[in-house]
Amino acid sequence: MAQSLLVVGSIAFDSIRTPYGEAPEVLGGSAVYFSVAAAFFVPVRLVGVIGEDFPPAYRRVLESRRIDTAGLQVVAGGKTFRWRGSYHGAMNEARTEDVQLNVFGDFRPAIPEAWRDSRLVFLANGSPVTQGAVLDQVRKPDLVVADTMNLWIDTEREALLELLRRVDGLVLNDGEARMLSGEHNLIAAAHKIVGLGPTFVVIKKGEHGSLLVSRGGPPVGVLPPDLICPLPGYPSLKVFDPTGAGDSFAGGMMGYLASAGKYEFRDLVRAMAHGTVTASFTIEDFSVRRLERLTLGEIDERLRLYRGMLEF
Ligand code: AMP
Repeated sequence: MAQSLLVVGSIAFDSIRTPYGEAPEVLGGSAVYFSVAAAFFVPVRLVGVIGEDFPPAYRRVLESRRIDTAGLQVVAGGKTFRWRGSYHGAMNEARTEDVQLNVFGDFRPAIPEAWRDSRLVFLANGSPVTQGAVLDQVRKPDLVVADTMNLWIDTEREALLELLRRVDGLVLNDGEARMLSGEHNLIAAAHKIVGLGPTFVVIKKGEHGSLLVSRGGPPVGVLPPDLICPLPGYPSLKVFDPTGAGDSFAGGMMGYLASAGKYEFRDLVRAMAHGTVTASFTIEDFSVRRLERLTLGEIDERLRLYRGMLEF
């Protein structure tokens, strides 16, 4: 049975430059990519903050899908969070050129009373203190998954370590996993991270896919199929703008889990496959444009190709 899904995170104006072109002040933010991706699978409850400058057209992108915006805080006279980034060469990593936190800097998430019973909670990229404040407001969710980034590992490590003791899963990229664990080998890094509290960790490796490691793990180097699973990336010929790939991966993953209503190891693997395929569409255009045109049929077809590719 489908379960309720709550996300809290950034809502942004992104200004992006890639070798293929530029997009100024387009709709972005971790919670936006997450919500639009997850809404293919279940209705989404979105909590975030915007300024008065947030245009009705961007609101419509959210409200025309299964995204409940009752948790959106609009700050009078405030400006929406802005992120400016560029990609170069293999486009594996964004180069952040400017960040203006604006209303996101003072964001104190308030979870609407009716949403405090949400069964699945995704703490999208944000300060671990803010992420913890969300957990203080929800009642006994079945599954809590958090995202994080180098900034917080660097500047708020203690708060992040405290948060890790309160979540079921952590999603982060390979560089961040190395930074958090101090291990270069990703399997070792994953084992160390599950030792910090979460039941499982998903390490995203960009075009090289993702790695799931669950706690209760064996000594490093032993690979039982119920505790560790690497998945390849979807082989994309067209990588136009990688922004939001990580967040839409998480959206596809959590959306699938909420729709399945079960969270065993193999469900997590299936969920990652849904995240992989959903993210493979995100990167084909700027912002959430490709997701706006996307159909569930297209997702299913790509999932079928992906599954076929993995058969041997
Ligand atoms: P990703 O999925 O990792 O590519 O995340 C891209 C999104 O993260 C962009 O749409 C940005 O608006 C957002 N973002 C960038 N920096 C931050 C930050 N410090 N906190 C929250 N969101 C951010």
